[in-house]
Amino acid sequence: MKPIKRLLAKLPSARPDGDGWLAVCPICGGVLRISEGWPLILLTCGNGCRMLAILDKLRLRCRDIKTKSATAKPSATSAAETEGCHE
Ligand SMILES: [Zn+2]
Repeated sequence: MKPIKRLLAKLPSARPDGDGWLAVCPICGGVLRISEGWPLILLTCGNGCRMLAILDKLRLRCRDIKTKSATAKPSATSAAETEGCHE
């Protein structure tokens, strides 16, 4: 299963928006933006919830959202955005 499919399966509220998806943040109930970054899927909560906390809530791990094997282009994914998901 593609990482993004696995993630979206955990977020029934997700709907396509532009280059990614919008969903309800499982922590704060705010708007969660999901985009297929590189080398990870990026989860950006409008209220600033930590990505690792969101993953934990969804019972996913960093490796579950790695997109390295996909054909995604390198993007401006910063160390801050991926918050310790580097291995
Ligand atoms: Zn949130």
